[in-house]
Amino acid sequence: LSCQTKEAIQTTCPYCGVGCGMQITVQDNSNPSAVKVKVLGDKSHPANFGKLCVKGSSAGETIDFAGRMLSPQVNGEAVSWNHALDAVADKFQQVIDQYGRDAVAFYVSGQLLTEDYYVANKLMKGFIGSANIDTNSRLCMASAVVGYKRAFGADAVPCSYEDLELADLIVIIGSNTAWAHPIVYQRIAAAKKQRPQMKVVVVDPRRTATCDLADLHLQIAPGTDAMLFNGVLSYLAQQQACDFSYIKQHTEGFDKALQHAQILQGDMNRVAKDCALSVAELEQFYQLVRDNQKMVSLYSQGVNQSSSGVDKSNAIINLHLATGRIGKEGMGPFSITGQPNAMGGREVGGLANQLAAHMDFANPEHIDTVSRFWQAPNMAQQNGLKAVDMFQAVNDGKIKAIWIINTNPVVSMPDAQAVREALQKCEMVVVSDCMQCTDTTEMADVLLPALTWGEIDGTVTNSDRTISRQRRFINGPNQARADWWQLCQVAQRMGFAGFDYRSVAGIFREHAALSGFENNGQRDFDISALARISDEDYQNLKPMQWPINQANPQGCKRLFADGKFYTASGKAQFIPITPQLPRNRTDSEFPFVLNTGRLRDQWHTMTRTGKTAKLMAHRDEITVAMHPQDAEKQNLQNGQLVVLLGKTQQAYRVIARLDVTDQQAKGSVFVPMHWTRQFASAGNVDALIPAITDPLSGQPESKHAVVKVEPF
Ligand code: SF4
Repeated sequence: LSCQTKEAIQTTCPYCGVGCGMQITVQDNSNPSAVKVKVLGDKSHPANFGKLCVKGSSAGETIDFAGRMLSPQVNGEAVSWNHALDAVADKFQQVIDQYGRDAVAFYVSGQLLTEDYYVANKLMKGFIGSANIDTNSRLCMASAVVGYKRAFGADAVPCSYEDLELADLIVIIGSNTAWAHPIVYQRIAAAKKQRPQMKVVVVDPRRTATCDLADLHLQIAPGTDAMLFNGVLSYLAQQQACDFSYIKQHTEGFDKALQHAQILQGDMNRVAKDCALSVAELEQFYQLVRDNQKMVSLYSQGVNQSSSGVDKSNAIINLHLATGRIGKEGMGPFSITGQPNAMGGREVGGLANQLAAHMDFANPEHIDTVSRFWQAPNMAQQNGLKAVDMFQAVNDGKIKAIWIINTNPVVSMPDAQAVREALQKCEMVVVSDCMQCTDTTEMADVLLPALTWGEIDGTVTNSDRTISRQRRFINGPNQARADWWQLCQVAQRMGFAGFDYRSVAGIFREHAALSGFENNGQRDFDISALARISDEDYQNLKPMQWPINQANPQGCKRLFADGKFYTASGKAQFIPITPQLPRNRTDSEFPFVLNTGRLRDQWHTMTRTGKTAKLMAHRDEITVAMHPQDAEKQNLQNGQLVVLLGKTQQAYRVIARLDVTDQQAKGSVFVPMHWTRQFASAGNVDALIPAITDPLSGQPESKHAVVKVEPF
């Protein structure tokens, strides 16, 4: 790159699942380790039309090389790439020979680009021969995936962001959109300003910044979302407000789902009591739903991170099916993902229970299809271990070697301290990361320096199925390499053919070709129109929403407009829901529900955003929010340091500063998830989260630990 690039380079934000387009201009690269760039929103990108939030607009301040991993390392010694890659390949082979294919695992990330993700999945599932590859996206949206698959027969988000602007009613469930997905929030706010008659309902046990936009805030008891939505279904049927023609033509299972809802949540007084709402609030909500056909339900971690997250998402989807509010402008159930490429990971089969291109282990034909396409010598035949089970298997000594790529599970997994202890026991821990010092790199036997945002090329898919390019605009440290390159090098050393890609464009073409391989419209994920894309067109690829195929060469805004679904019958499925409460319960010794989540200005474990003084200024230390009456009862003062102790994770404690606020519901406390041992001596809140998961999705219940709070 020259000292100054006059042309702006279009890329995509490295942070949340909104997937905003950016325009980067390199202003000064005379010092390669501290290049100066100007970051603007890309006015032509359909996710953000030029806007960026504070995190995105500060991304240019995070690209210096401070703290970067600068060379491959084995047992703490800097070594050559050949040495490190040989060590990884040899150990993986030795473990496979001695203990079998399931004794190795990959744990990857929604931060990976689609092409990296594709290669990782191909190597593990087709060549190593195990499905033990899971991802931190398991912690983010796995419940939404299973909810879609149960209802639609496919992991397919029906909506576009545009639907949020076209809706008359937006119900935001379990999401502080204003902080976690700021540009989506701004789009809703702008639409509401233009059409003040648009209504917004926020369903959240906390009063968050998102509630500023709400006509109605339902401060429900934690974990009662499915009761609320069963109640809505029952009310709509009673009011004759269901679309019986749609139900008859395009769905199955309505009667049973309604019967469940009526028996369990047919009584408004009971729903109000169970959800800790007033009957008047509930009635107002029910009526809004009844009277507004153009309705989008926008949901995120408050729904997904639950021991019954799948059922919650299906309770929401049931409502849309009962009213035919799907596949049309301004309507649909819309799960929004946390990470920039959680969707891309789903597309390539980055979850342990998926195959590439949205195919499934449950279908032997799919296994055969993928196996023949890859010419795979050792095709996995069944699901691998999901994240929580995978680290448990490491702890049990069943997994002997693990490769962790671009993620920090020692901080972000539930029961995080147990993950640390499991990795200490593992025979070989390989960590690919761009940063030298994280809680997880500390555990590594082999460290592989990775290129990162701004230094790599590839694609990501955002929450509304838009595939966008990330483009390189600076060079990384000399020794850092792209993740796909690292994976291919290990694959070749293990003797596998099919990993000699010359560029990311070649990987993308293969991924696109697989999506269309023997796919005669039976599978939702299809980008086969891009299977022969030239290197030049790939370089210039504009954002597009999949499917991108013969029928939709320019992409597709909404799915299911024709009322056809990917189930065996072609009809959408109602799921009868029996609401379950969170499994961990408070008691007199441990009286608080612990809820975790994002801050406005931080991202994950702060390795990037923690570099920016402006972002740190928003909240510069770990806090715990508590209602004033609870603080008084505990004899605690605003601003004092307190200790949080978990009911089930008693060996670990978190020290935080008390933030007494009436935004917090009584009986629960909130702690941001970002702080790690790198930033606070005992600040890893995920160490207090028990490893309780949804039985269908394997997603942990990160919104509902049980703690006590004491003075420090
Ligand atoms: Fe980046 Fe998300 Fe902010 Fe958009 S909303 S700029 S994707 S962090």
